[in-house]
Amino acid sequence: MAKNKAKLDHGPCPVCGRAIITLLTNVKLADEAEICCDCAAKLRVMYPLAYGKKKGKKKIERLDPLEAMTLDEVRAAMEKAPGQLEDLRAKYGRNAVFAVEDISMYSHGWFMPPYISAKGKDVFGFFDIGDEVEILHAGASVKAKILDIEREIATEKDADAWIRRGEGGYPIKRMVFSQKDLIISPGDLIVKG
Ligand SMILES: [Zn+2]
Repeated sequence: MAKNKAKLDHGPCPVCGRAIITLLTNVKLADEAEICCDCAAKLRVMYPLAYGKKKGKKKIERLDPLEAMTLDEVRAAMEKAPGQLEDLRAKYGRNAVFAVEDISMYSHGWFMPPYISAKGKDVFGFFDIGDEVEILHAGASVKAKILDIEREIATEKDADAWIRRGEGGYPIKRMVFSQKDLIISPGDLIVKG
């Protein structure tokens, strides 16, 4: 009976007590406990979500380190995560940091600056389309505006909002810029705030 009930009623999140809404990106842990998407998001700075191929599989899947943890481990991590985020903010002196790993350029037509598509990882914080950011490149800082953000996997259930905006360690697939004389290279940081 308990089993059938569990399917319909997910009950409160065992970490924060808020109701678990089935449609959101909750995470089922190794011991079957289910935590809410807000609690999971707070832990991403320590346990980033990745996408890749599991051993022996061809399909690209969501690889979530939280799924290998127990509720006790998650509770312990929850105590450390805010401090870790503060340390990162202090280290970079910013509210959001994206590390560029790869660059593609696309023509944008005559007399128009090319599209620069920066692939990389959200180290921490959120980014949105239209954000004014700085590109830290070769010791210099250049102002730029995010033209577009491509999410990692379009079909990924409901992960949309999180992945688009990024949160500590979430993969944002690409940030797109188009601006005269803008140079972005792998190793650069895109920062905000
Ligand atoms: Zn929660």
